[in-house]
Amino acid sequence: MDPTQKLLRSLPKVDEILSQLSGELQHSAPNLLIKLVIQKTLQTERENILQHPVESKEKSKGEWLEIIKKNIIKMQSPNLQRVINGTGVVIHTNLGRSILSKDATEQLKTAGGHYTNLEFNLDNGKRGSRYSLVEEIICDLTGAESAIVVNNNAAAVFLALDTLASGKEVIVSRGQLVEIGGSFRIPDVMAKSGAILVEVGATNRTHLYDYERAITEETALLLRVHTSNFRIIGFTSDVSAPEIVSLARQQGISTMEDLGSGCLIDLTRYGFPKEPTVQEIVSSGVDVVTFSGDKLLGGPQAGIIVGKREVIEKIKKNPLNRALRIDKFTLASLENVLCEYYDVDQAVSQIPTLSMLTEDISKLKKKAWKIQRRLKYKKISGCNSKIVSTVSRVGGGSFPEYNIASWAVELIPDSMKLSQLERDLRSLDTPIIGRIEKERYLLDVRTIQDSEISHLVDLLSTLFVSESSCD
Ligand SMILES: *Cc1c(COP(=O)(O)O)cnc(C)c1O
Repeated sequence: MDPTQKLLRSLPKVDEILSQLSGELQHSAPNLLIKLVIQKTLQTERENILQHPVESKEKSKGEWLEIIKKNIIKMQSPNLQRVINGTGVVIHTNLGRSILSKDATEQLKTAGGHYTNLEFNLDNGKRGSRYSLVEEIICDLTGAESAIVVNNNAAAVFLALDTLASGKEVIVSRGQLVEIGGSFRIPDVMAKSGAILVEVGATNRTHLYDYERAITEETALLLRVHTSNFRIIGFTSDVSAPEIVSLARQQGISTMEDLGSGCLIDLTRYGFPKEPTVQEIVSSGVDVVTFSGDKLLGGPQAGIIVGKREVIEKIKKNPLNRALRIDKFTLASLENVLCEYYDVDQAVSQIPTLSMLTEDISKLKKKAWKIQRRLKYKKISGCNSKIVSTVSRVGGGSFPEYNIASWAVELIPDSMKLSQLERDLRSLDTPIIGRIEKERYLLDVRTIQDSEISHLVDLLSTLFVSESSCD
């Protein structure tokens, strides 16, 4: 017989496996789920055999039972899993950007597990507005007259452009036509909102007269966009927010700034390069300012829009707003995070994103030592470790190219390739995500929480102990 046909015929029957497993797993998995997993597993194998007949091997019934049981467990566990971030990238978009403090996480539980006054005014017993729950705090902190929060900053930019400039011209410097990850591009968002992009200046230099010359009857808005994830260096110049505001006022048009990260505190105190804070941009008189909730602010995914009352009122009335509105979980945790900002030192110590970014280098070294010592103590076999200095990144398009000195635990496997080590760590019960840099596997301790250290060490020791016992 043709070997491919033989392999295909060797596959077990669905009913045969089902009858065996449904008895064994009757208390842990519903029959329908078991059946679906068997069907999908066998179908995948069938496709595999047809695509790679030579590499495929016949499996015994016992092997199939094991594979299918594993797949059932996988199917029953959440797809969204917690991971340990050893990359040193604090605002790691692929790993969920900012993490919340215990306190803010508690608020999520309350909002999820109980009825709340989400849109109910407890003072008068009438319908309330969900936005009012955070608007006052945002205004207090930023100095803005009015505020609204939507799903993310991409939505904020879109909503603001749609409200203020649909069918009209928006002037932007060529140096600020950014694309950030996840296919958000200023020209595309603008096109979608119905605004007409008018590019001015050159990539490296734009002057006030460039904006001035481009203004027509059709101009609705002068827009500045934070360049976020890239830098133009060398012979450069751009026009500051106050200059733009004064030009726009003379001409009776509006101004907008997409700040991207939206930093509320001056991080130069901690050695970071100067970034304009939201307060500074608001006080320069810009009509609308938008920024993210989960970048440097350190909160949940959200897009915050602040500005002049009259303009924000228009945005609130835009029907699109309803489609982009935030949910109760965002509101619950955002309020908690924002409250920390009434005291800057409190914010830096309580908001995980800020505390990780400003962590003292000597503490990081101690943390790396602690992990390395524990690994040594566990006497794991097949892998050595040592501590090395490295650099972390802010991530999330904030402070690109800025290196923060940090410490890492380097894992040095005896025989395993680093790519294999990387894969194995990624498939642990709690996946560990590190980075390979110059032929070294590093776990940057900046993004590893103190509360995760024991768990991390246990995970690593299961991997290496079981490795050696298989040999
Ligand atoms: C990050 C960013 C956005 C998008 O923000 P999200 O909250 O990710 O939607 C838009 N503009 C700029 C300049 C950014 O940096």
